[in-house]
Formats: sequence, C-alpha cells, structure tokens
Amino acid sequence: MKAFRRFTVRVPLPTPLVDLAVLAHNLRWVWHTATQDLFATIDPALWAASGDPVRLLAEIDSARLNELAEDEEFLTRLRDLRTELDTYRSAPQWFGKEAAAGRAMPQGIAYFSMEFGITEVLPIYSGGLGILAGDHLKAASDLGLPLIGVGLFYRSGYFRQSLSHDGWQLERYPVNDPGLLPLSLLTDADDRPVTVTISIPGGRVLHAQIWVATVGRIPLLLLDSDIPANDDELRLVTDRLYGGDQDHRIKQEILLGIGGVRALREYVRITGAAEPTVFHMNEGHAGFLGAERVRELVVSGLDLDSAESVVRASNVFTTHTPVPAGIDRFPKDLVSYYLDADDTGSSRLLPGLPAGTILELGSEGDPGVFNMAHMGFRLGQRSNGVSQLHGAVSREMFAGLWPGFDADEVPIGSVTNGVHGFTWVARPWRELVGHDEDSAGAAYAELPDGDLWKTRQQLRAQLVDEVRRRAHASGRERGFSEVELGWTADLFDPGVLTIGFARRAATYKRLTLMLRDPDRLRRLLTDPERPIQLVVAGKAHPADDGGKALIQQVVRFTEDPALRNRIVFLPDYDISMARHIYAGCDVWLNNPVRPMEACGTSGMKSALNGGLNLSILDGWWDEMADGDNGWAIPSAEGVTDEHRRDDLEAEALYSLLENSVIPLFYGRDDTGLPERWVAMVRHTLSVLGPKVLASRMVRDYTDELYAPAALSYTAAVADDFAGARDLAGYRARLTAAWPAVAIAGIDEDSESGAEALQLTAQVALGDLSPDDVTVQAVLGRVDDDGEISHPILTTMSPVGGADTAGRTRYATVVHPYKSGVVGYTARVLPSHSLLAVDAELGLVAYPAAP
Ligand SMILES: *Cc1c(COP(=O)(O)O)cnc(C)c1O
Repeated sequence: MKAFRRFTVRVPLPTPLVDLAVLAHNLRWVWHTATQDLFATIDPALWAASGDPVRLLAEIDSARLNELAEDEEFLTRLRDLRTELDTYRSAPQWFGKEAAAGRAMPQGIAYFSMEFGITEVLPIYSGGLGILAGDHLKAASDLGLPLIGVGLFYRSGYFRQSLSHDGWQLERYPVNDPGLLPLSLLTDADDRPVTVTISIPGGRVLHAQIWVATVGRIPLLLLDSDIPANDDELRLVTDRLYGGDQDHRIKQEILLGIGGVRALREYVRITGAAEPTVFHMNEGHAGFLGAERVRELVVSGLDLDSAESVVRASNVFTTHTPVPAGIDRFPKDLVSYYLDADDTGSSRLLPGLPAGTILELGSEGDPGVFNMAHMGFRLGQRSNGVSQLHGAVSREMFAGLWPGFDADEVPIGSVTNGVHGFTWVARPWRELVGHDEDSAGAAYAELPDGDLWKTRQQLRAQLVDEVRRRAHASGRERGFSEVELGWTADLFDPGVLTIGFARRAATYKRLTLMLRDPDRLRRLLTDPERPIQLVVAGKAHPADDGGKALIQQVVRFTEDPALRNRIVFLPDYDISMARHIYAGCDVWLNNPVRPMEACGTSGMKSALNGGLNLSILDGWWDEMADGDNGWAIPSAEGVTDEHRRDDLEAEALYSLLENSVIPLFYGRDDTGLPERWVAMVRHTLSVLGPKVLASRMVRDYTDELYAPAALSYTAAVADDFAGARDLAGYRARLTAAWPAVAIAGIDEDSESGAEALQLTAQVALGDLSPDDVTVQAVLGRVDDDGEISHPILTTMSPVGGADTAGRTRYATVVHPYKSGVVGYTARVLPSHSLLAVDAELGLVAYPAAP
C-alpha cells in the first residue's frame, strides 16, 4: 500500500557530534574528500548507497551515533574538519588579496540562474547550463568572491530518465523533500519564514519562501512557491524545471528575476551581508531582475532614465546559445498581460514603471515577440558569450541591436567556460599530484609514464564496473529478467579503448552521427584485435519526440547480441553518472553541428582526467585543440545539404578512429605501455588542464566584467547619482540630436607621398558640441565591394571653430599600408566617460556614399 504522507523522524545528534550537521549542510563536502571520508566512516554502506550526508544523518541509528560520540579519534577528525571549514570560509583567498592590494573590487555580486547543478543530492538542474552555474559558485567560493547565488527551488527538479522495454524514454518526477536536503529556510528574528510577494494579474499575489543552500562560503537563495499562502495553481509555479508551457515558464522567470531581487534584499537585511553592486544574469531567464532593479530606484525617487543607467552600469549578461530556438522568447501579449498596465500605463507587476517601456526592452525583429536575451543586452552594459567562437557568433547574431556597426565591433565579449577541478578531477589523480590547482600542471609534467597509464587503467576499470551495475539496473527496470541480463556481468572490457558520448539529445548535437554507417561502427566495435567500446547517455526534453526517437535508435543498436558487450546506452545521465564516465573514458567524442555548441564543458571534464577529445572544432575545442591533446573532426561547414554534411563528417570521424585514435591506443612498447598515447594524456593534463578550470573562468569574469562593472556602478551612483543623471541626460540629448549629425565630406591632402595622408572631415553636429562626440578616421584594406576590413581607427581632432554652415572641421594624419587596395572613411560616435565602449548606444554616423 502507498503511504498517504511521508515524514522524516530525525534523531537529534549527540552534543559532541553537532558539527556533523554543519559539515552536512555546507556543500563544500561535495569537493572535499576528507569530509566525504568522514561521512563514509559513519556508515560505509549507507554512504555508498546515497552519497548524501543529510540523508545519512537522517537514516543512521542512534546506537551508532552514541558510539561515535565516544570515539576520540572520530571526534578529533570531526573537530579538525570543522576548523578547516571555518578557515576555508573566512580566509581572504585570491579575491580578498587582490582587494587588499588596492584593486577596486565589487563589494558584492549577485549571480542569477534558472538552474544550479552543484551535486546530484540537490537535483535542481538539467544539464550544462546548471552545472556551469554550480561550478561558478564553487570556484567563486574557492577564490573568495563575495557572491550570492539566486535561483528557484523545484519540487521535482528536472525529470529522471528510464527506458521502456522497447527503448523509449520514460520520465519520472520524484518529489524533493526539503527536510532531506541541505537547505535551511530564511527566517526573520522571530523565526518566521521570510516570504517575498509579487502582484500578478487579477489582483492575485504570488508568494515565495526562500531556501538557503550554502556552497562553501557562497549562499545560494532558492525561491519556492509551494506554500499555503498561494492558491493551488501558484503553488505549482516552482514544481518543475523546464516543464510547463509558456505561461508557466514566464511565471517562473518573473519569480526568478523580480522575486529573486526581493529575496536578495531580504537576505541582506537579515544577515547583514554586503549589498551586491554587480548583478550577473546567467542567460536571459533572469532578465526581469534588471526591470526590478530599475523599479527599486524609481520608487526611491530617481527618474526612469537615470535608474536605467545605474542598472545598465552594473548588470552583466551572459548569453549561452547560438541556436535561435534556444533563445528565450515569449509572445508579447503574454508579457503585456503579466505587466498588467493600469489606466495610466503603469505596470502593476512593477509598480512605478510604464509597461510600455519594459515591453520595448524585449523588442526584436518580430513585433509579436518579447525576447529575454534582448532585454538582457539592453539592461546590461557588459555582456559575453561563453567561448571565443561563440562570442564571435553572438556578435553576428545580435548585431541588429547595434545598428551601424560591423559584427566585430558589437560589444559582446567572451569568457570561455570552465569546470570546477576539485569536483571533476577523480581522486586517484589528486592523490598523485596533490590538491593545489596552481601546481597541478607542473606535477603532471613530472609524473612517470607508468603512473599516468596505471591511473588511466584504474579509472577505466572503475567505469567498467559502473557500466555493468547501471546496465543491469536499467535492464531490470525495463522488465528483463535476471536470466536475460546475465550478459551484463561481462559487459565492457577494462582493457579496451573506451569512448564516451553523453549529452542532451538536442538535434544539433547529433547523437546518432556515429550510426551513420552502422556496418563501419560494427566493425570497429567487434574488431578481434583492436576493438573499441562506447558508452552513450543523454536525456531528451520530455516534449521532444524527435530526440526520444534518436535515443531509441541508439538503444536498439546496442541490443544486437553481437554488439551489446561493446556499446551501451545508460539512462538517467546526471552528475553522479557523469563523474564516472568523464573519469573513465579514454576518448571523449563530441560531434555538434558547428557552430551551434556555444562552449560545451563535458570535454573539459574529460580532459581534466586525461581523456583525449575527439571533437568537431566547435565551442571551447575550437580555441583549445592544439594537435597534441586530441583530434579535430573536420567539419563540412559550407555544405548546405545536411544529410551530405552528416555523411562527410561521419566519414571523417570513422577515418580518424581507424587511422589515428585506435592505432595510437593499441601501439604498445615492450612493457605494454602505449607511449605516444600516454604522451598525449600527459600533455592534456599538464597543459590543457589548467586552462579549462572554473577558477580561470571566475577570475576572467572578475577581471573583465565584475570589477569594471563595479567601477561603473560607483561612478553612476556617486554624489546622489550625479553620474547616472549625467549619462541619462546625455543619452536623451544625443538621441534627439543624432538625426542631424552628419559627415558632409572628407578631403585628403597627401603631404609626403603615400606615406602619410592628411584627412579633414566636415562634420555637422547639430545641437551637439565637439565634447559630446568622437570623430574617427577609419583606414584599411578594401575588398571588391568597397568594404573596409580590419580597420585601423584614428581619432580626429577638431580644428578651428564651426564654419558658416555650422560644420566643424576634424583632422588627422593616417599612414596607409605600403601596398594593396586601401580605403578610408570617417565616422562620428557618441563619447561619454560612463560608456563602456563607443558602440554601446548603437549610434554612429558615416558620410553618405559618394
Ligand atoms: C558537464 C555536464 C553537462 C554539459 O556538457 P556539454 O558538454 O555542455 O554537453 C551535461 N550534463 C552533465 C551531467 C554534466 O556533468
């Protein structure tokens, strides 16, 4: 029979053990092996079953606890670990040291994300985006950033995947019980839960309580609408991640963005934490936070334009996908409905703000659509893509927001993603090279070949065990009998070249490219001398039947009795599975349609364990493949027929395997060691490893985005918002005056042959003065269409006053190339000290074409 209700009876911890609760509730244990070992000591079997300290403490019997309460050795370990955690949390680390050395650093940073993948124990993530956010928090903790995470607490998180008997994806939604999770409710001085509220149409109010997870030194606030103050429908706002329709989704994003800022204010008020001055939107889902921040300032008396200047100065926006369908967009009518304008046009959702202004922030080419990414860019002075290639693709993709500028001048930068080393590097490596990330690269360079290879063998063998265990469990779940599953005991071979492919079953990732020529793959898998084995995993979105069909196609292929020992599909790809496959696979395969993979991080986690990447030159691999750390699968990018493109790229993949990867792996010396393979593993660990770390990423974010944003914020708010008011006034004046700005002509006067060219431009500034603008000479090689590429920009100076036509003359001397077809022009740009770059406002004037 099924229980009507479940609850957990907790045995109070004996006094000497109370620190166990502290260690269990700080997610630092996720990347601290000594703390994990302490929990394992309490009950090895319970620990092996759950790997979850909170659950373990809930399930352990009191006799064992009483025993430990008298175990001096255990108590010493506990005390030492507690002290270590306190030191870890309070030591200044990199950020504190930089600040102490006099660098201007933000006093606080808020990081908003729809999902956070920190550990399988807290299942509020679906995949790459969430795990990246989790790794961001962990690295921010290690580096000592004063960062606060903001997200949603989902009752059922993302779905758990299993397979039907015939290989079709099934979804389950287990309910998260906050009492069994490392969370505490944010409460006020009277111990009452703190809630935030949001007005939604029909006079209704959405309430949310706030769970706090602690990730090392970083608090993560998670809003939860499942409380009695809400009606039944609103309780379900945070039921699932990426689960509902557009209406459900927009309510979640309203809660994340608007509710998130309100929750943050409550948290700061109650705990006295430093007020964040920089706000980071991890993808467009969090875009409403900008509107809420504008509202706060307007309500406090600042005018709308100045408020927007403050918010822009201190918002950072990161875009995560070049796939147009992946951009978060809503029907404009739906957004308008939630903005809920009153008779005066003021939004009831964001009281004090005109609904029309907010709608404008999300406008795009399609007049019926509200684009969350566009709102992110418009309310964020600084923005980035997540690899160099993705930065370039994003500059093209969003160029329309900065009309008049070539794509390479669009102010979207890039910070290449990274992964948290302490989370993803398998233990045997850390035992060999120690726990200092800064010295690991050098330590790998010194390790004997034998140790490197032994560790790779050991990790592969552990993966084989895990594959057998999971394949057996999955077979049982699919309804196969024990007798039918006998083969799983011999599934995979610890000595065989092991290739991994695990990722969402999104079309562009091409889960089934490897099956393009099934006979050829079959031959590779069953080669009597030099076989390969393949582990495949990944979830399809519940509404994506196409993706499920791809999974089924793979599953069916794996069921061929002649192949099933060498290829397996493991259901329910999540962090707990990922850990094993990244560590154990020799080769990490990735074959997206270039350039659709914004970054990709699974290959980085494989590389941190000495896996060699075999990948299309997309995302991070495009900038980090160096010929010795893996293989680049050539892509047939110009080929528009996608079937032919798949054929060509699959052919390239098979040939690389046959001619390079397999011979290298099986090419052994007299002692059985694959020398050349091991050299690539070493190179990967020592040279590539340090570049893919989340600590590198978070430092980059701090240097390139957070610290400059904090400076802009200070400049905007100082002297009662003088800077913001000045910038807002300037912007209004500039926008009004811009139509009259023009370059009437450019004259050249070659003084000394072709070496130096004096250029003079006649510039009409209308109501603007020379102080308001920058005038540049633009010089460069010119193609057949007259386009200047890679221009050299030279600032021109005003010479003399305005002429009778009211034009100002600007002049400079440029130095053309020694040869080739060269051209020049000039342009006028806005200039204000609080603009991050000249292109920022999307305004520029060129001379009319002759
Ligand atoms: C790293 C990771 C991902 C993201 O990997 P991609 O290379 O971006 O596809 C997805 N799921 C899990 C469980 C991961 O650990």
